[in-house]
Amino acid sequence: MSCPLEQELTAYVDDALDEVARRKVEAHLPGCAACSGTLALLRRTNALWANAPAPRPSPALRARVLAEIDRPTFLQRLRGLLRPVVLVPAGALAAGVIASVVVTRSDPGDEALALESLQDPAQLELALNLDELDDLEVLGLENPDDLEVITHLDELEAMP
Ligand SMILES: [Zn+2]
Repeated sequence: MSCPLEQELTAYVDDALDEVARRKVEAHLPGCAACSGTLALLRRTNALWANAPAPRPSPALRARVLAEIDRPTFLQRLRGLLRPVVLVPAGALAAGVIASVVVTRSDPGDEALALESLQDPAQLELALNLDELDDLEVLGLENPDDLEVITHLDELEAMP
C-alpha cells in the first residue's frame, strides 16, 4: 500500500463513505497515480464480479445443506420434549425444568449441561411421563383451557 488514502478506495467504490470522506478521496485522486490505478482495478474487478454467473452448489452439497436445515437441533428437540410441562401438576418441577432450559439456552454450546440436568430425579420423572404428554400433544391439546381440563380430569370423574 503506497498511499494512506488507498484503504478508503473500496468503501469509495461501494459508495459507503460519508460526504466528507468521499470529497477527500475525490480531491485526492487526480494527484495520486497509485490511488487512481487502484480505483480502476477495483472498478474492473467489481464489473467482473457483477457479470460472473452465480456459483451453483453441487447437488450433493445442496442435499446436505437442506438435510442439515431440516434436522432439529438438540435444543429444539429438548424444547419439544419439555413443551407440555404445563401438564405436570407439580409447579416446582415445571419451574425447575424451565429454569434448566433457560440456563441451557443462555449457553447454546453447552449440551452437556442439559444432559446433566436430566439426571435430576424430578426431570427423570418428567422424562418417564413424556409418552403420555406426547399423546396429548398429538391430540392437538395445546389450548391452555383444554390442558386445564385434562389436568383436572380425575376431579371431574369424582363428581357424581
Ligand atoms: Zn493516493
